[in-house]
Amino acid sequence: MAGRNFILLGAPGAGKGTQAQRLVEALGVPQISTGDMLREERRLGTELGKKAAEYMDQGKLVPDDLLIALIAQRLEKPDAAKGFILDGFPRTLGQAEALDKMLAAKGRSLDAVIAIEVQRSVIVPRITGRRSCPKCGAPYHVEFQPPKVADVCDACGTKLVQRPDDTEAAVVKRLEAYDTMTAPLFAYYEGKGKLRRVDGNADVETVWKRVKEAASA
Ligand code: AMP
Repeated sequence: MAGRNFILLGAPGAGKGTQAQRLVEALGVPQISTGDMLREERRLGTELGKKAAEYMDQGKLVPDDLLIALIAQRLEKPDAAKGFILDGFPRTLGQAEALDKMLAAKGRSLDAVIAIEVQRSVIVPRITGRRSCPKCGAPYHVEFQPPKVADVCDACGTKLVQRPDDTEAAVVKRLEAYDTMTAPLFAYYEGKGKLRRVDGNADVETVWKRVKEAASA
């Protein structure tokens, strides 16, 4: 694959996280998921975690200044020097512009923005069925990837949990935020010649083939 600085763009539930992990394996650069980073800040009880919590649980976007500071710090870490897969950032035009400035200041630029497009009708059941193991992190889905015993982790026997923002009410809010705040990024990156659209309405392997092609183009 030609480059190493990628953004994965797409609605919640489009499969960004799954495809990001494949890209990490293929490219040897870190996945930088702002959702995961914010959940970790909450777990640790930091000031940022406390500030972010109420926005996240309501399915709202956390303010730009907090996210921009978080990403600026993360991109300074040595592992990001060779490249990155951004998953869940940027989500607003303000974040996208700030990222461009940060990269330009380091003499770096984006290789491509891979946009995974999925039909709206599949998103709500995909997300509301998600469960994970709070102990070992194994992901499940009540319908598409059920554990052997309902609600119990196959690997370690722990009771599975649902993210507080994976409920239907929160997902509807997250999709609204995506439509109003994040969707304009398609035009922004198209204007810069960086956007590569990928049809995400297929199984993981098929979508991965398409993502690989887009990353190589
Ligand atoms: P995710 O795991 O990517 O779905 O993110 C979970 C939640 O974290 C989002 O619904 C937002 O509340 C917050 N979040 C993650 N990334 C961003 C971002 N780039 N800008 C604003 N809020 C974010």
